[in-house]
Amino acid sequence: MIVLSGGTGTPKLIRGLRRLVPDEEITVIVNTAEDITVSGNLVSPDLDTVLYLFSGQLDVAKWWGIKNDTFHTNKALQKLGINEKLMLGDTDRATCIFRSGLMRNGASLTEATQRLSSALGIKATILPMCDEKVDTMIKTPQGHMHFQDFWVGARGEPVVLEVKITGIGKAKPTKEVVDALEAQENVIIGPSNPITSIGPILALKGMREILAKKKVIAISPIIGNSPVSGPAGKLMSACGFPVSSRGAAECYGDILDIMVSDERDTVDEKDFPVSVKRCDTMMTSVGKSVALAKYTIGLFRDIR
Ligand code: GDP
Repeated sequence: MIVLSGGTGTPKLIRGLRRLVPDEEITVIVNTAEDITVSGNLVSPDLDTVLYLFSGQLDVAKWWGIKNDTFHTNKALQKLGINEKLMLGDTDRATCIFRSGLMRNGASLTEATQRLSSALGIKATILPMCDEKVDTMIKTPQGHMHFQDFWVGARGEPVVLEVKITGIGKAKPTKEVVDALEAQENVIIGPSNPITSIGPILALKGMREILAKKKVIAISPIIGNSPVSGPAGKLMSACGFPVSSRGAAECYGDILDIMVSDERDTVDEKDFPVSVKRCDTMMTSVGKSVALAKYTIGLFRDIR
């Protein structure tokens, strides 16, 4: 089973999927377009959340960082006048130091992630979407800002005029990503931000062509006319998509076989560009994550 993931909604789904499918049989292709260097080390927020989920360390109250982490280094840096762009916990920072050390010695992000996975005892295959550097930039009336400056620094408040993924024109899925997709038939696009989490994965050279040959089911991150959390609504609007599960289906386009929309949705099923199935997609507990994962896996049987 292959899952395309960002750093919040899809990890909630994977938490359930792991109760149904052995970790060894799960491959997660993870967005890296929100990566940023903090105090000299590469932070890959979505990759790290997925790594911490599989290694049992994730702080599932926040869906980022490590549970019970301390923030001594971040606070000490603040005393020195450095306000880091992301609140990095001390143990979380160790991951970034390990990764960056490997990469400074020539490892790719994929290789560094493999080393991290094995050091953390992870049995699933966790793959960054690409090894090239790509950055999500938000155009606002005040100028362009990195996604993290927009979302964390400016609390998502600026008006969004445009979303640009710089570097994406030269980025391609890694060999590991292509091989994994070649070996598997079923792909789940988890309920992640269609613009900033799934958008960059789909924008990689050749990715849509590969996915068009697969059975692809997406789960909408939008319930009614709002995301469960995060800036997906604002960003979808800025990119010209309706803020709804239909809008999410439009973002994914013809690679999709089925869109799973929430049972609370009022959108007319006839309006969907693809087949739509409905169920409770609100994952407020492990049990609800398992139920949604089970429902989604069952749908693959309906796809020819
Ligand atoms: P990011 O990388 O931290 O932005 O996280 P993702 O892109 O993976 O996830 C953010 C998206 O997950 C948001 O658009 C939310 O609406 C969606 N989301 C979070 N929790 C849930 C949930 O329980 N159900 C559904 N359907 N969507 C969710």
